[in-house]
Amino acid sequence: MTTAAPTPAPTTAPTFDLLADRILAGGTATAEDALAVLRADDTELLHVVAAAGRLRRAHFGNTVKVNYLVNLKSGLCQENCNYCSQALGSTAPILKYSWLSADQTLKQAGAGLRGGASRVCLVASGRGPSDRDIDKVTELTRALKSEHPDVEVCACLGLLQDGQGERLREAGVDAYNHNINTAESHHDQIVQTHTYDDRVDTIGKAKSAGLSPCSGLIAGLGETDEQLVEALFALAALDADSIPVNFLMPFDGTPYENTWELSPTRCVKILAMARFVCPDKEIRIAGGREMHLRSLQALALQVANSIFLGDYLTSEGQDARADLQMLEDSGFVVLGSEEAPGREAEALDPARDPAIRRRGAGTEVPANA
Ligand code: SF4
Repeated sequence: MTTAAPTPAPTTAPTFDLLADRILAGGTATAEDALAVLRADDTELLHVVAAAGRLRRAHFGNTVKVNYLVNLKSGLCQENCNYCSQALGSTAPILKYSWLSADQTLKQAGAGLRGGASRVCLVASGRGPSDRDIDKVTELTRALKSEHPDVEVCACLGLLQDGQGERLREAGVDAYNHNINTAESHHDQIVQTHTYDDRVDTIGKAKSAGLSPCSGLIAGLGETDEQLVEALFALAALDADSIPVNFLMPFDGTPYENTWELSPTRCVKILAMARFVCPDKEIRIAGGREMHLRSLQALALQVANSIFLGDYLTSEGQDARADLQMLEDSGFVVLGSEEAPGREAEALDPARDPAIRRRGAGTEVPANA
């Protein structure tokens, strides 16, 4: 009597690989493909990552772009973006200050550049810049570029008025960030003091001024799967060069406090979906990386190709040395660096010897459990 081999569980693995084949051959993902990625069972996660990772490797090899945030002006905003700790009505106990000096800005940016960042993102809270604010940012950009000629500068100052993008570009600003944040069909649920069209208009102004458009989203704002897909296809249509994918950090004191909709595996699938929809764009793991991806951060880098080093605008990220170590451990190199990222990490943290156990068995100190 022969025994039948166990029937393998149904798998969609070939589907994701075929999707990658199609995209590598010049095709595009459909909304249905994107939804299938987002809704893949967790048992299929490695198949999703392997397929999306082929696209990542085809366009970006084993490089990771490292970006560094400098919050020029923190809090005190009159807009009411419900997710934002700096918004009107937020009681989140964040740092609040108005415009860093040039020295403070150069010092902060220098720290990020020493850590391997190739792009510095100069961010100021507020609805949009006044012409005086543009003066400040153009001066800061010139000072930064005279000290660090190779640095890429991205400005993120809110809604632009006519001519402001051109002034930034003339001063050497390379890119402008303005996130659409969510789907058009969900936008009015997350902010009421400006519209989705206002946001799209600013991205258009940045592009026509010759600035590289950077625009992304925040996942975990109560949007549906279809709305996440809608937002990603909108970003593809806007032809954003870099796409920061944020995962909501639900600050106490904001309308989204205690909102926890994400799991680490879902976050990886969201990033993979972004890769399938926008295969040759910079997909950046942005705010909420540590909080939501947790132990899957390194896995997520197999599909994303960009991170923020160190801290975020109003919250602390993991130690920058841990970021660099993670890149090295995963076999990645920092874009623009000849050195493996761990070289910087090693130089910063030579204490790599095993820590001798001084707790648990044989001691009076409670065990590590
Ligand atoms: S996201 Fe920007 S515009 Fe909206 S509240 Fe925060 S700082 Fe203000």
